[in-house]
Amino acid sequence: MDYTYNSLDDISREAEMLMKLSKKELGGISEETILRLFCEAERLVISKTQELANSLGFDKLNSVRLVCFKRNNRLGTCDKYGNIKIDFKTFFGYGYSGIISVLVHELCHTEHHNHSKEFWTLFEHYSKKVGILSLEYNGWWTENKESDNPYMYNCPWEYLDHPHKYKIIRDKICTPFPYRNTFLVKRKLNNELIAQLT
Ligand SMILES: [Zn+2]
Repeated sequence: MDYTYNSLDDISREAEMLMKLSKKELGGISEETILRLFCEAERLVISKTQELANSLGFDKLNSVRLVCFKRNNRLGTCDKYGNIKIDFKTFFGYGYSGIISVLVHELCHTEHHNHSKEFWTLFEHYSKKVGILSLEYNGWWTENKESDNPYMYNCPWEYLDHPHKYKIIRDKICTPFPYRNTFLVKRKLNNELIAQLT
């Protein structure tokens, strides 16, 4: 297996492949393998978000991190200082366009720190610009109101046990303190692994 990924699409494909395994098979995958995937995903999320910010003209982005949130219904957050966090689970079932959608969503929060009509109008505009929403589509606001529910991203979690499978992945990253952030993830990585990835 090759653990060098060139794009978010590669990571998304690998994540989808992992979700096709049985729980037993997932349990047998080493922590190091999952940590490598996480670190590669973070590297690519950071560069893609910066690339999108530059090309779309968002100038208030401060930082981007990949995390494992405790709350299961969140895919991303953005604070008022422009610090964006993306949940690793976004890779496991939302597909490439879902990931880009979450990045654009959080970038729009660097301008509007709410889910107002202005926010959704901006989100719709940039989603069309990056090609993840049909140009004919008009009405995100009408359909979704203030909803910020992950399922509006057309989540294809077609398998009922999908969230349970993802939990196996998450626990490999976050143990022995489940659900904490990348600080703990990185502490777990040995120097050799970090050197290979940087
Ligand atoms: Zn939001």
